[in-house]
Amino acid sequence: MIFDLHSHSTASDGVLSPPELVARAAQQGVNVLALTDHDEIKGVSDARAAAAELDIDLVAGVEISTTWAGRTIHIVGLRVDPEHPVLLEGLRINRSGRRDRAQRMADALAGVGIPGAMQGAMQLAANDELISRTHFARFLVEKGYVKNLKTVFKKFLVRGKPGYVSHQWASLADALAWIHQAGGVAVLAHPGRYEMGKEKMSLLMAEFKELGGEAIEVVTGSHTPDQVPIFAAYAERYDLLASVGSDFHAPGEGGRELGRLMPLPECCRPVWQDW
Ligand code: AMP
Ligand code: MN
Ligand code: MN
Ligand code: MN
Repeated sequence: MIFDLHSHSTASDGVLSPPELVARAAQQGVNVLALTDHDEIKGVSDARAAAAELDIDLVAGVEISTTWAGRTIHIVGLRVDPEHPVLLEGLRINRSGRRDRAQRMADALAGVGIPGAMQGAMQLAANDELISRTHFARFLVEKGYVKNLKTVFKKFLVRGKPGYVSHQWASLADALAWIHQAGGVAVLAHPGRYEMGKEKMSLLMAEFKELGGEAIEVVTGSHTPDQVPIFAAYAERYDLLASVGSDFHAPGEGGRELGRLMPLPECCRPVWQDW
């Protein structure tokens, strides 16, 4: 069985529509796919309809942006009720700051001689409530300012670089409460991507566990092979289940392909153990 429990569609910053994403996952041999758009769950119904036509199980998911200790931390919710009012309202509030943030990003880019970024990013965003840094990144590549997406996130849009603006997302506690009230399980996304030392990481894991978090991503498109055993050990130490997901956004953009993931280390208990 191939599980891929982290992916994006045009409902956030992916480039495939939910049905296109599901079709691609099926082609890649994925058996169980979670759609986990940023702060948005409206793609799930179309994805589910498409999955019913193909031989693939669709997990209703979401990736919630949170702010913890001044840093942005992503929390994936899996098997949530996509119509739960508490979750929907929380996501709506989280999305509502994005437009203003995008304008501040565009203003910052204009300040370094890059005009038209707001309009350019908006044109690339299918969901106008969900403008992400990825849309700005694609705009910068399209206009030839940077050669590819990976390079954008070294030269722009990250702390200390042009186009970065700070932003306050939901709290970790709120995000976990929304996921749990909607009947889902909470997964700490791509922990290896947060540039923090062991002490900070241990604090994050402990607080996540304390708040009722169930799992962490151990195998993800964002981890290098040597990060996998490190986060498998964190999962064991904090008694957390382990998840697997590509974090697929677009074909040919440099990220991981759907379903192309190494198996979980033996010591891990998969998040789907009782599904
Ligand atoms: P936002 O939620 O608007 O802050 O955008 C975050 C998104 O930017 C992530 O979900 C990724 O799609 C993209 N992103 C962030 N860092 C990188 C990176 N180093 N390489 C590629 N994409 C990135
Ligand atoms: Mn993204
Ligand atoms: Mn993420
Ligand atoms: Mn993601």
